[in-house]
Amino acid sequence: MSEHSISSSLDKIPKSGIRKLFDLAQSMEGIISLGIGEPDFDTPPHIIEAAIKALKEGKTYYSPNSGILELRQAISEKMKKQNNIDVSENEIMVTIGGGEALSLAIQSSIKTGDGVIVPSPAFVAYVPTVMLSGGIPIEVECKEDESFILNPELLEEKITEKTELLILNSPSNPTGAVMKKSDLEKISDIIMEYNLRVISDEVYESLIYDGKKHVSMASLNGMEENVITVNSFSKTYSMTGWRVGYLSSKDESLFDRMLKLHMYGPVCNNTFAQYGALEALKGPQHFVDNMRDEFRDRRDLLLKRIQEMNGVSAIKPEGAFYLFMNISQTKMKSEEFSEKLLNQEKVVTVPGAAFGPYSDEFVRLAYPLKKDKINEACDRMERFLSKN
Ligand code: PLP
Repeated sequence: MSEHSISSSLDKIPKSGIRKLFDLAQSMEGIISLGIGEPDFDTPPHIIEAAIKALKEGKTYYSPNSGILELRQAISEKMKKQNNIDVSENEIMVTIGGGEALSLAIQSSIKTGDGVIVPSPAFVAYVPTVMLSGGIPIEVECKEDESFILNPELLEEKITEKTELLILNSPSNPTGAVMKKSDLEKISDIIMEYNLRVISDEVYESLIYDGKKHVSMASLNGMEENVITVNSFSKTYSMTGWRVGYLSSKDESLFDRMLKLHMYGPVCNNTFAQYGALEALKGPQHFVDNMRDEFRDRRDLLLKRIQEMNGVSAIKPEGAFYLFMNISQTKMKSEEFSEKLLNQEKVVTVPGAAFGPYSDEFVRLAYPLKKDKINEACDRMERFLSKN
């Protein structure tokens, strides 16, 4: 194996498939974007006020590397109560969004040549981050007719003596799939048998519909030590631009390694932003419920409109704000579909190919936009399908 370096790995990684289309869309007028990966709600005012208050009170200095104590305590309480994960404030680190937490977790967990299993289709950052860290990504197909849930048998087939890590993401970006407790239990049996580490990316935990409940991998028996839980304020409180996320791990030496990376990189999160995040956890929570109800209604609308179209189909996504539309009947590959739809009807979608090798017959539709826009995007898609 050739020697690994970050700069040489960077040359092997293509630019994000999402960016290319977004750049093209920027030059056009009258665009409707189903490409956006963030809620369209303003951050609730009490959270904004708390950050402003912190600034006015002089909370403008570095914070402790792992984050302000009050925030880590509040996260610990939240994780115990909501996630059934028993972690103390010393096992929690506040990071620059869930994005940094993922990088720290991957970089600190693997050595050059280690195998990392990535259920696919997957969030666009996983495979590049594994490659930058010197790991070998091993993608396992999650099939539409299995509701895009990781199949334990397929997982086990891909495990070798080089495999160190599995990355899970429920609810999923891009499919909206939500893993049930029984799905996670089957995976956890395999994790224990092969003694793997797991990164559980739970940034969409608050966006699960129809009364289903989020289950955290680290809450399962025997999983406490093996799992790094990654979470964020971005999606739950509509705080994407604040860049506040966090991770937790009960593995002390791993935690120390992640802290070193964080300490010699960003040092700490913005101090005043952390006070905003503290208020998000401590303040009223009805915003989260209202946003979830609104997203459920939008999902129902989008799904109904797609089911009425000829040439495309979709299964019902149970969480996040994405729908993974099957375009196989159109005989177009995903990039061709997305590009033509953009050029002909000015609707932005993300080609399935951006999420891995198994999803070229899909495009991702994100629905954080008002219902009249969703309807208009669907009218345009209908017209497009009738012509192509
Ligand atoms: N994980 C998943 C699955 C995501 O979709 C995203 C953002 O889109 C992130 C992590 C990172 O989010 P942030 O860095 O804003 O917390």
